[in-house]
Amino acid sequence: MRIAIMGIQGSGKGVQGDRLASDLCVPRIVIGDVIRERARVDDEVGREIADQMGRGELVAEPVVVQALAVRLALRPEDGFVLDGFPRSGTQVGTLDAMLGRLGAQLDVAIHLEIDEQTARSRMADRLVCSVCNAPTSRRRVGTGDPCPLDSCVGTVVPRTDDQDSVAVDTRLAEFYALTVPVIDEYRQTGRLIEIEATRDEDAVYDEMRSRLAALAGSRP
Ligand SMILES: [Zn+2]
Repeated sequence: MRIAIMGIQGSGKGVQGDRLASDLCVPRIVIGDVIRERARVDDEVGREIADQMGRGELVAEPVVVQALAVRLALRPEDGFVLDGFPRSGTQVGTLDAMLGRLGAQLDVAIHLEIDEQTARSRMADRLVCSVCNAPTSRRRVGTGDPCPLDSCVGTVVPRTDDQDSVAVDTRLAEFYALTVPVIDEYRQTGRLIEIEATRDEDAVYDEMRSRLAALAGSRP
């Protein structure tokens, strides 16, 4: 299955997307990782991306689209869980065209829905491993506790971008301005699954799997 997963900060998009990709045996393609990988290629485009990132600028849309097209074309027969794209209404059509050229299509978009207050409180609670970036929460462990992965020697710390109230406001505003139109677009074209995601992780995941199974079963 080819799936795009969306949700506001703190919706559990990363954790749920990881789990889904691993259970479906498909890659989780995170647009930020795709761009960072492209920046490591030593050519003109790679150096330009590295420069833009170094200056803290947004990488230009054509460059992002091109990097994603190359990544998707690597194994076009595979499914994926795509995270971080489309990030504007117009990019919905861009992704469809990109997949169309590979003889493929997006099966479904999943929106993990939480309210803004829950998003804010989850961001405030969020902790990550200082070594491997594994995510966890103050609801499970405390700052300075060992990494949740047994194989890792790191300790967990708050994410710096979650502690800065201006940065938090900016990211929430970006979600409403950019991603909500994407969600609307998928809803209008009948390709959206919406999951109420304020519940615990397992309940959200189970509903997501059963809705995807129902969708796969309804196809000829
Ligand atoms: Zn770790």
